[in-house]
Amino acid sequence: MALIRLKNVQYIYLEKTPLEREAIKDISLDIREGESIGIIGKTGSGKSTLIQLISGLLYPTQGEIFIKDRDIRKWNSKELCKIIGIVFQYPEHQFFAETVFEEVAFGPRNIGISDEKLENCVREALITVGLPYEEIKDRSPFNLSGGEKRRLAIASILAMNPEVLILDEPTANIDPKGKIEIMNYINRWVQSKNKTLILVSHDLDEIIKTVKRVIVLKEGKIIFDGLIEKLFLNYEKVEEAELELPEILKLRKVLEDKGYPLEGAFTLHEIVERIVAFKEHISIWKS
Ligand code: ADP
Ligand code: MG
Repeated sequence: MALIRLKNVQYIYLEKTPLEREAIKDISLDIREGESIGIIGKTGSGKSTLIQLISGLLYPTQGEIFIKDRDIRKWNSKELCKIIGIVFQYPEHQFFAETVFEEVAFGPRNIGISDEKLENCVREALITVGLPYEEIKDRSPFNLSGGEKRRLAIASILAMNPEVLILDEPTANIDPKGKIEIMNYINRWVQSKNKTLILVSHDLDEIIKTVKRVIVLKEGKIIFDGLIEKLFLNYEKVEEAELELPEILKLRKVLEDKGYPLEGAFTLHEIVERIVAFKEHISIWKS
């Protein structure tokens, strides 16, 4: 059984107005429990629209979406929140509570967690993203640093313990060290709890380190859906999607152009091994 299934989904913003815009065009896909999936594509390709459809925040203008074999329109929103948690792009723009504690507690309370369990739940969520509970719980969310705000926003979704975690550009506008930290916290949570992850990003370096399967969007359509290694065997696809090649592949391309046989090498380690093997092969052949 697919956890999430999209069948010929279309989404048109402002349908039947002069401003109508078809953001998602005939997308079908299955997502299984425990998968980690990247959704990539340049700005405007439909990434945010697609994940809002998957989360039930928008309903398709055509086609169907099933969550656990049940039409998404038939789920009530509280039940759906227990299955799918979505962290929006720049989530800190939506803070509203006076304290960090209240910010995190809002979601779990809303889905009916008991008062006895609430404090533990908030504590655990904050610790999961590296925020010290006692020191931070009474502070105002608005006075935290940029990286802390982002982690708090992620904690407030983790606190609901969803089966599927969807993140829309979770490290946008965060410094490089902060980016790595945030992705580490997310990965640890996903792996230790066997969750399903859907990560939207235009940063291929980040995607490459996090997911196995990748979906590439262009103008509202899927132009690639498969293993990330397969995508990167194929520079043309990456170019077609108008994405920046990951640093590692830029390096591989330069070396391939110089004649090293590196097809399929995917990590720095593999590239080095291939070059060493190639040089040894050449020297044996020469001698
Ligand atoms: P991405 O997240 O990949 O940048 P979006 O899903 O935000 O892409 O947008 C896909 C398309 O839908 C774009 O052309 C965008 O301008 C349009 N769009 C997004 N949100 C709205 C909206 N609220 N009203 C009208 N058009 C929208
Ligand atoms: Mg977006």
